Amino acid sequence: MEMSPAEQERFREILTAHKRELEKRVDRIHEHAREPLEADSSEQAAQLGNVQVVSALENEAVQEITQIDAALRRLEDGRYGVCITCGEDISPKRLEAWPASAECVDCAETSGPR
Ligand SMILES: [Zn+2]
Repeated sequence: MEMSPAEQERFREILTAHKRELEKRVDRIHEHAREPLEADSSEQAAQLGNVQVVSALENEAVQEITQIDAALRRLEDGRYGVCITCGEDISPKRLEAWPASAECVDCAETSGPR
């Protein structure tokens, strides 16, 4: 599938905007993580629990940023919208739902969650 330059530009904008949002989210997570621990030990335990949740959220965001960066590189290379595994076109519907998709539906199903 040949994607028109206008369409590529549209996906570039969606991906860039999404990436900015994720970066802001990571910044906020960092702000939060810098808060000093309470002296009280039960409070400390609760906060440590929070730190774990926070780092899981951060990992998720960082992973998404990585996927978006890869998608932006594929846009640059003219390989955007093509499955990295089988080389088939990724359906437009799938790209609309998740613009950073690297694989077609079939490959994503066989390789499991990214
Ligand atoms: Zn595929």
